[in-house]
Amino acid sequence: MSQPRGAVVILGGGPGGYEAALVAAQLGAQVTVVDSDGLGGACVLTDCVPSKTLIATSTTMSVLHGAEDLGIRAGGRPGWGRGSVDAPRLYARVKALAKAQSADVALRLAAAGVEIVTGRGALAGPGAVLAGGRRIEAGSVLVATGALPRVLPGAEPDGERILTWRQLYDLPELPAELIVVGSGVTGAEFAGAYQALGSQVTLVSSRERVLPHEDADAAMVLEDVFRRRGMTVLSRSRAAAVKRSGDGVLVTLEDGRAVRGSHCLLTVGMVPATQGLDLESAGVTLDGRGFVEVDRVSRTTAPGVYAAGDCTGVLMLASVAAMQGRIAMWHTLGEAVQPIRLDHVAATIFTDPEIATVGVTAAAVESGQVDAVAVKMPLATNARAKMQGFRDGFVKLFARRGTGIVLGGVIVAPRASELILGVSLAVEQSLTVDQMAHTFAVYPSLSGSVTEAARRLMRPAGDEL
Ligand SMILES: Cc1cc2nc3c(=O)[nH]c(=O)nc-3n(C[C@H](O)[C@H](O)[C@H](O)COP(=O)(O)OP(=O)(O)OC[C@H]3O[C@@H](n4cnc5c(N)ncnc54)[C@H](O)[C@@H]3O)c2cc1C
Repeated sequence: MSQPRGAVVILGGGPGGYEAALVAAQLGAQVTVVDSDGLGGACVLTDCVPSKTLIATSTTMSVLHGAEDLGIRAGGRPGWGRGSVDAPRLYARVKALAKAQSADVALRLAAAGVEIVTGRGALAGPGAVLAGGRRIEAGSVLVATGALPRVLPGAEPDGERILTWRQLYDLPELPAELIVVGSGVTGAEFAGAYQALGSQVTLVSSRERVLPHEDADAAMVLEDVFRRRGMTVLSRSRAAAVKRSGDGVLVTLEDGRAVRGSHCLLTVGMVPATQGLDLESAGVTLDGRGFVEVDRVSRTTAPGVYAAGDCTGVLMLASVAAMQGRIAMWHTLGEAVQPIRLDHVAATIFTDPEIATVGVTAAAVESGQVDAVAVKMPLATNARAKMQGFRDGFVKLFARRGTGIVLGGVIVAPRASELILGVSLAVEQSLTVDQMAHTFAVYPSLSGSVTEAARRLMRPAGDEL
């Protein structure tokens, strides 16, 4: 049996914490995870996993709405047809799945020999943690305590009508008229999902368009789809206050307009869960907003203290949290380690259609920050897209001018989250558009548009944006 290579204590059992624990245990360290709210973290119990489970149902509803166009008669067979949503059953499924996923994480950690302490922990200097009424000494500490929904003053959630996304799954029914405040990734995902589930949705966006930080073409496709499906999108409209009003809610906008609905969902960002951890007295520097400052191997300013995930505010994704956590363990346990590369992170917005991205952005190319050529292939002409009955979407590819090395891409399509892997692989491995274009894609397939985009860029100058 290998000897313990050191003791590691991890604060927080989300992807930042538990993935790190698995790596550290694999390397022979003695590992303790302290978690207050359930293994898997907010990722598994309240945020990522529940929302994607809800979206699995809403996407199926969208498919059912389009069924007649594919030659399916509604209600032709028991259990088939358009259907409507059984909210208590849907929410019970969401919560059961999250719980089961959390139990799977607990089993994996137990099988790896990781000790679990249930309760809140705090640092007691750089090399120790106080948790569960004891002091746990450790060579290294990893802080992975996540983040919490930001609350707007004047729009405090009550868990009944004014809600954060963590309170949705306790509702007794679907909101009849849902006002979603905030049109970033979380707002767009829930607005699209509830519209498909049968709610009448109003999306309040303080910016010119939905998804202001994402690819502009992709955001425009989505906003167009939202409006066509009957959603009210209020652009350049900032919410000033949200109050209960009779059986519903009243959202007052900064310009004085009022929007009424049955429920309001607030998706206005996250704040770091870094209070009460005694981080600063242990020498850990926080930035102005309270996020833990880390370098690219997850080191904080205190020797032996690392941080990973949403509490660092680096890129609030489960995959990034997990990678930061693993890197921290490889680094502290003396393994060879590559600093994290955020420019290669693949991400998806799970709307319908999905928006998946990797590598450089159109904004970086358009501003001249990156010298690249680009091509955009609408999916409306893709044979598989026609067969499946959709036309909203595209494949966009960026390649370095001259060398043709693939630098990034954007895919807007159903299951774009799966399709992006080919582009992600090309970016990671510095493949050229020639190499992509010579790769077989199945006919007919949506991925055929990815290789076709690469083929278009084989022309010496490529298309300009
Ligand atoms: C609605 C929504 C949908 C999302 N969907 C996706 C997605 O599809 N894909 C994706 O990659 N990302 C998604 N994310 C982001 C993802 O959920 C986060 O990036 C991820 O949860 C970060 O993991 P973490 O380990 O940093 O923190 P968390 O998952 O928040 O886990 C932190 C854990 O630490 C515990 N904790 C806090 N303080 C203490 C303490 N003092 N002592 C002990 N334990 C403590 C918490 O209770 C929690 O269990 C989504 C986020 C939201 C809000």
